[in-house]
Amino acid sequence: MNKIAQIFQTLEYGPAPESAQPALDWIKAHDGVFGHFINGAWTKPGKTFSSDNPATGESLAQVSEGSAEDVDKAVKAARAAFKSWSALSGYERAKYLYAIARLVQKHSRLFAVLESLDNGKPIRESRDIDIPLVARHFYHHAGWAQHRDREFPGAVPYGVCGQIIPWNFPLLMLAWKIAPALAAGNTVVLKPAEFTSLTALLFAEICEKAGLPKGVVNIVTGFGETGQAIVAHPDIDKIAFTGSTDVGKAIRAATAGTGKGLSLELGGKSPYIVFEDADIDSAIEGLVDAIWFNQGQVCCAGSRLLVQESIEERFIAKLKLRMSKLRVGDPLDKAIDIGALVAPVQVERVRELMQKGIEEGGSVYEPDIDLPAGGCFLKPALITDVSPANTVVAEEIFGPVLVVMSFRTPEEAVALANNTRYGLAATIWSENINLALDIAPKIKAGVVWINGTNNFDAAVGFGGYKESGFGREGGKEGMGVYLKPAWEKDLKPAPAAKASPAKPANPLDASQGIDQTAKMYIGGKQARPDSGYSRPVFGPAGNLVGEAGEGNRKDIRNAVEAARAALGWGTSSAHNRAQILYFLAENLQYRRAEFAARIKEQTGEKGEAEVDAAIERLFAFAGWADKYDGAVHNPPLRAIAAAMVEPIGVLAILAPQARPLLGSVALLAPALAMGNPVVLVPSEKSPLSMTDFYQVLETSDVPSGVVNVVTGDSAVLAKTLAEHDGIDAIWCVGDAATSTMVEKASVGNLKQTWTSRGLNYDLSDTEKFEGDYFLRRATQVKNVWVPYGA
Ligand code: ADP
Repeated sequence: MNKIAQIFQTLEYGPAPESAQPALDWIKAHDGVFGHFINGAWTKPGKTFSSDNPATGESLAQVSEGSAEDVDKAVKAARAAFKSWSALSGYERAKYLYAIARLVQKHSRLFAVLESLDNGKPIRESRDIDIPLVARHFYHHAGWAQHRDREFPGAVPYGVCGQIIPWNFPLLMLAWKIAPALAAGNTVVLKPAEFTSLTALLFAEICEKAGLPKGVVNIVTGFGETGQAIVAHPDIDKIAFTGSTDVGKAIRAATAGTGKGLSLELGGKSPYIVFEDADIDSAIEGLVDAIWFNQGQVCCAGSRLLVQESIEERFIAKLKLRMSKLRVGDPLDKAIDIGALVAPVQVERVRELMQKGIEEGGSVYEPDIDLPAGGCFLKPALITDVSPANTVVAEEIFGPVLVVMSFRTPEEAVALANNTRYGLAATIWSENINLALDIAPKIKAGVVWINGTNNFDAAVGFGGYKESGFGREGGKEGMGVYLKPAWEKDLKPAPAAKASPAKPANPLDASQGIDQTAKMYIGGKQARPDSGYSRPVFGPAGNLVGEAGEGNRKDIRNAVEAARAALGWGTSSAHNRAQILYFLAENLQYRRAEFAARIKEQTGEKGEAEVDAAIERLFAFAGWADKYDGAVHNPPLRAIAAAMVEPIGVLAILAPQARPLLGSVALLAPALAMGNPVVLVPSEKSPLSMTDFYQVLETSDVPSGVVNVVTGDSAVLAKTLAEHDGIDAIWCVGDAATSTMVEKASVGNLKQTWTSRGLNYDLSDTEKFEGDYFLRRATQVKNVWVPYGA
């Protein structure tokens, strides 16, 4: 065969190498060794480590290992810069962000080459995806800088943000962190991942060129220990982290009780669901983007293929054929599909996990294609014959490895898709729009792509459900995590609670004259405490006014089970929830005198005002139920992204000691309005208002299990709730020690927490608490990407 005929046969591309020279020249201009970028200047390199090219194993440069002192210097610089940076007008900050965007664009090829050299990703991706998205992120956030005060009235920046990023999208993750932080008015100390520091260091030079004031952006390089020093630094106000779920959990535990803001974007095992009516060729191309983009080192990679049984065989055959055409090679070759993994240790890890998959019964398919000699290269792989319990199905592999399972019905697809501790993203492939839009809300993930995959845009929030983390990057939600209400910094310590009278030595003495113990309320029924014990409730003069059940672990378990069975509350219409909240208010109004008397009995306060405030609060959130909703974004792709506001799930509430009715209702109302079933622990000291409340719940059509009331020792019950995997979020009004305990104990399933940390949150303040303060915390945004106008 002559050469041309042969090329037609093989469809072989020739090599199309990009020159590494400009990036190497830039490294050389720094003598191949870098210090940190602190307060607008380079520090003298200290102890260094090598940043290697994973395609060749050659060292590219020496990078400094940041010590705790380096971190401290950077934090001091950021603190000093914060004052004037945050005082600039939004327009001034916008101009800086715009200048950065322009400069990134101007030097985009240098950034792309350096990124591919350092990370191993194909230049086609760094050139066409990573770097353009970086520029887009700064452009987009220039606008947020200018409009911050209009869009977030009363909000202020946190201060100094510590930001820790991974190596899979080194510059893009930097942009996702730095752009919103600066737009909001914060200053930053950012640590790139140890494998990929170079583009962050080049970015530092861009900041210099943009004339960014000294200390606004500080880059400290190093390993996990440097990251730990950032997390532990007492003068950092907020931590933003992207990386593995394990490290995310360690950071959650380390920040517990510190009051630091926290956003976490963690791992994933995202389902890629293909229905039998999908456009199969498109779904195959989508899958290539889903799992072999960036060698599969993508937190939202579509790494779990779920394909409908009726097309499984055909789909897999086509997929294997497509895999055999993928080209693995030099990342700087523009005609390759798959580059190098980031480091030998990652190659090892992926191989080990694949081996485990085989040992557990999986079959691995790898196409018969060439790999470059040396370097961190792996073939694309497909693992079949696996079940949900298989390690490769459950664990994030973070490599070019796809696992596949089949399903018969849409219900089964949803069950399989959600059968994971993660919830970052999902892809749905179907030509039936009704089916796709029926499935999207049922998937527990922060991003859902319909007939597309791995779409990202600065205007569209990105982030996880469940153990994939909390907080969003991009869009309005992404700005929200870098801002807080101005009044929070003025909060004073809560006044010390009056000590309860001592329990009588003989438990029987407490019950004298009282013929009824207030029941708990679980799953729509009155419930006696499992412990068989009750606790006395005293009035202000130490007089016994009643008894309440001593709830324990078992009662909490029952309550959580009942609440989980009531999760359908979240999919009932917002109008319906509003009606029920209004009805609650109305029925409370009927019993105003009775509830007021009960408050007086327990606290000595005149109760009418509190009952009225509780009624008003129920009205307020009934009003919000159908108004606190999402948006439709218009990213620069042929798609829209519907930002859907969804409930978080089962919410645990530990109500304040004071205001036995309003204290609970102020937290219950926003949680219910947004569709979260609740396990409520009312005031420990004065629980009887909320044990009475079940009568109001029952007459107001609140479905059983939507509100569950467990009385008892707040701190003990708080711990059980914080540790319970069936609880998705926990709000705790409590002292500093209880709040810290709750935050620490929440690590198990990374539940979202709000705690009062012993500060005086006056929940009767309508200005602060009738708005979005708790609504935001009762919800998470899911962005559903749908092709539009294509
Ligand atoms: P990945 O699995 O993506 O490598 P890691 O979570 O290990 O993710 O790393 C992400 C980032 O977190 C890196 O910059 C790494 O240096 C940093 N890091 C690792 N361990 C810690 C830690 N204990 N505290 C803070 N940062 C850490």
